[in-house]
Parts: sequence; structure tokens; C-alpha cells
Amino acid sequence: MSEPVSTISSSTPINFIHQLINDDVASGKNQGRVHTRFPPEPNGYLHIGHAKSICLNFGTALKYNGLCNLRFDDTNPEKENLEYVESIKASVKWLGFDWQDRLFYASDYFDKLYECAVTLIKQGKAYVCSLTPEQARLYRGTLTEPGQPSPDRERTIADNLDLFARMKSGEFADGAYTLRAKIDMASPNINLRDPVIYRIRHQHHHQTGDKWCIYPMYDYTHCISDALEGITHSLCTLEFEDHRPLYDWTLDQLGLPCHPQQIEFARLNINYTVMSKRKLKQLVDEKLVNGWTDPRMPTLEGMRRRGYTPAAIRNFCEMVGVTKSNSLVEVGQLEYCLREDLDATAPRAMCVLRPLKVVLTNYPAAQTDVLHLSRHPKDAGMGEREIPFTRELYIDRNDFEEVPPPGFKRLTTGGEVRLRGAYIIKCEQVIRDSSGNITELHCSCDMNTLGKNAEGRKVKGVIHWVPAQLAIPVEVRMYDRLFDHPAPDAAEGDYRDNINRNSLVVLKALAEPSLANSPAEFRCQFEREGYFCTDRFDSKPGALVFNLTIGLKDTWARQQ
Ligand code: ATP
Ligand code: MG
Repeated sequence: MSEPVSTISSSTPINFIHQLINDDVASGKNQGRVHTRFPPEPNGYLHIGHAKSICLNFGTALKYNGLCNLRFDDTNPEKENLEYVESIKASVKWLGFDWQDRLFYASDYFDKLYECAVTLIKQGKAYVCSLTPEQARLYRGTLTEPGQPSPDRERTIADNLDLFARMKSGEFADGAYTLRAKIDMASPNINLRDPVIYRIRHQHHHQTGDKWCIYPMYDYTHCISDALEGITHSLCTLEFEDHRPLYDWTLDQLGLPCHPQQIEFARLNINYTVMSKRKLKQLVDEKLVNGWTDPRMPTLEGMRRRGYTPAAIRNFCEMVGVTKSNSLVEVGQLEYCLREDLDATAPRAMCVLRPLKVVLTNYPAAQTDVLHLSRHPKDAGMGEREIPFTRELYIDRNDFEEVPPPGFKRLTTGGEVRLRGAYIIKCEQVIRDSSGNITELHCSCDMNTLGKNAEGRKVKGVIHWVPAQLAIPVEVRMYDRLFDHPAPDAAEGDYRDNINRNSLVVLKALAEPSLANSPAEFRCQFEREGYFCTDRFDSKPGALVFNLTIGLKDTWARQQ
């Protein structure tokens, strides 16, 4: 697990929500208390969009010395399960946030929510309605036309109480009745046209089992749960703006001791990805990716497995800020935050991704130079690693060209190059198999160039290498963006048509021996290639699997 976040950066520019909270604290509202919550529905894994909400809710609590609850908004049992609950808890912790002893479920309040519904019925503010969903839709009206009252709207309180109790006791089939709030069928805000607050669903629930066959609706549940937990500021995304009058109406009728303030902010949207749980689930169900934790997924578990650091994600959320207008953030910004963090924290190592054998014809077969290379160019505290240098080596196939394009600084026939941290070599002969493929290079080694410049000439190129017999075979999974269209959702056709077919290429690579005992989730930079991370699930001692986290440079920016 990562280090918990205990402070938030003071350099963050103040956002409109914090301005509002400053005013509340100054005026003594809520006795100066700040209490937020992060309310995921356990119907999928969390994604990077949720990280924005997590950082905002938990970050706000930290900033104001307040509290933040984790609350599962679990009113839809047919779509929810415990696997999602567990994964969500793990992701929030991994990001570095702590709900302490405040883990709640909306389902903890089902009894209380039922009582509140009975109170509304007794006040003449809720009624049992027998319209089918189709009829209810017709009665609801449109943006330009008012709705029509349900024929059941004037049912007596006694009848409503009786029917609601029977709904609860399981007498009726799914959909036979709903409980609706009695507000205003002519309201310009359609959310106030007698919204459904309870529906019948004979469905097992992951927390309450078979106790209930009626389930409260989100809008009704959310405000009451917030009030019961003493939430002061209920932060949610902009699509709930039109629901705020219902949030306030419900609490006003019930007179609960606390009336939280709902504040809306813009969702995070990122290009080259999709971010709705429905679509992410579809990718999983249709096996277009390898599950929710696939390193190409924008889920927090996928990003973790890919090698993202919690700090990179938190920094990104801070950088995009919190505003009231929806916008699309470049995925390059996220990748920038990732590279920044990894550049500072990832030790360096060499790994040859597409091995090509090199034999140093003049280097004695019995000789081994044990070289000491620093693990980090700017952080001596990370120490050194040992790499044996031997007569037979591997370099990357892409670092050799017989007919070099202009500006090529690596190895060419008859050309010289420095092997990283070691000698200068010169390619003397190219060896081929019977079909003409290059199988190895015979090179000479300038034995006078270890830690020294070449005499009388300049050798600019530096390439990485590993010792042939001592290198460790590793699997390297080269990941790329899952979609090759900047707006997979908005493009013509289905978003699934925009899946990048080359988003995973598996290589059999050779790594320097110092990596042999890399634990799971070990992050490092393969010099000249990118940042890599051992796979959390598949990497084992003796059979290491490295995932490409991100290349050293943004290759997508160059293509555009
Ligand atoms: P999705 O639309 O991806 O299925 P959701 O909003 O239905 O997401 P919830 O589990 O209800 O998912 O979300 C929990 C919290 O995270 C909510 O407060 C929601 O507003 C917030 N959230 C979800 N997606 C984003 C996003 N892209 N940016 C910021 N906050 C988000
Ligand atoms: Mg939701």
C-alpha cells in the first residue's frame, strides 16, 4: 500500500468550492465543521474520473481538518456486487486516502429510509402509484408541456400506508407499484414532477440479503444518507444540478437535524478514452480487454497495474483543478504527471527488448568486467547496481542499421558506438542465416575506452546492452492507448470501432541481472525505452513480467 496522504499541497490555487467553504467556516455555519463523503455505486471498478472526486472530497476534508466518509451508494442490487465493493475500497486506499472508521452503505439506512417514506405519506407528500413505466412517462409531460396527474395522486393516506406496507411485505410483483413524492406535475423542472422514490424489485442485495423487495431511488436516498451522516458539503458532478431542488425538497419535508449543501462541479473527461462504467463493463464483458484490471483500462486498478503511481494521479487531479464547466483534458497531461513522478522516483536499468547478439571478437572469453552503474542519475542515494560485461552481449535490433538513415547515431556497419557505462565498439562484420536474416554482429572492442573518451575521434551514440549469458529472460508487455481516436465516443460509429488493435504487443526481452529479484509492482526505467512496472498478478521470481507504463517521450504528440 502507498503512503497515506496527510497534507495537501499549499500551492494549489483555491477553487470555487473551497472559496465557498471558507465563507461557511468564517460565518460559523455547521459550527465550522467540514464533512464530505465519496459515494460510489458498487456497479463497476473506479476510473480516473472517480479519482478527481476522491481527491476533491478527501482533499477538502484534509485541508479543513474535517472528515470524509466512504459511502457505497448501493440502491441498485441487480447491478452491484461484493467484488466491486472490495475493489473500490482498495483503490481509494491505494490513492492514499483513509476513511478511518467511517465506511458506510446507503443500505445501512434502509430502515430509516422506509420510516422517512412513511412520514412523507402521513404528511400527504407521497403516494403509491400504479402507472406502468410507459404510462408514467406519458403522464410526465415534456420540457415544453406540463405533466398530468396520476389517477392515483389523490389516493387517501390510509390507502397509501396500506399499499406501501404491502409493497414492502412482498405481496406485489416487480413494477406493479411505485411510491412517488407528491410535488408538482407542472414544475418546469421535470425532476420535481412527482419523482419515484421507491420501486419493487425482488432482488437479493449484497449487504441486506433478502430482507427487502422494495428499494429506494438514488435521489431520495442520497440526500437522506448525507443528512444522517452529518455531511456539510455534498460535492457531486454537474449532471445533478437539476436534481438539487429535489435534494432540498426531500430534506425540507423531513426536518432532519442536518441539511447538507449540494455543490456541483465539472466531471473529468479525458481524450483517447471512454469513462462510463457502462462502457468499461462492456469492454470487459465482451473480452475486448483482459478484465477490469487490464493495464490499458482507465480504471484505477488498471492504471495501478500499468505502473501509474498514486502521486502522479493526485498531482494530475490537482493540476486539472475543479471548475463549473465541463471540458476535455488531454491525456498527455496525465502522462506528463506520470513521467514527472517516475523520472524522479524510478531507478534505472537496462533491458534489451528485441535482442540482437553481439560478439566482441577481441575481448577475452575468460574476462568479465564488473561494472558499477548508478541507479539514478540525479539521486545518488539510490546507490549502484552491478553489471557484468562479457565477450558476448545483446543489443537492441533497432540500434543497428546497415544502411543508416540520415542522423542515425547508433551502430552501423563499420561504425562505432559506446555501450552504456562500458566500452566503445565497432561493427566489423554482419552474420546472417541462410535466408539472409541478421543473426549476430561481430564487433571489435576498443579496450582503452572504459570510462574514457576515444582517442583522436568523437563517438556520439550510446546504446544499452546486456551480457549474453547472464541476462535474465523477461516478458515485456508493450501497452499503448486503448483507443486510437481522440474522441472514441464522439466519432462516427461505435466507440468499440476505435479500439487500437496494436495496444498490446508482447516481447521476449533480456534484462540486466540486477533485476532478477524484482518484486511485484516494482517500477523502473529501462534506459532509452521507457518506464516499466512488474505485473502485480503475473510477475513471479524466475518469470518476470514487465508492463510498459509509459514511454520516455510522448510519441502521440509527434504524430499529430
Ligand atoms: P459513471 O458515469 O462513470 O458510471 P457514476 O457517476 O455513475 O460514473 P458513481 O459510482 O455514482 O459513478 O460515482 C461516484 C462519485 O464519483 C460521484 O460523486 C460522481 O459524481 C463522481 N464521478 C464519477 N465520474 C466522475 C468523473 N468523470 N469526474 C469527476 N467525478 C466523477
Ligand atoms: Mg452514479
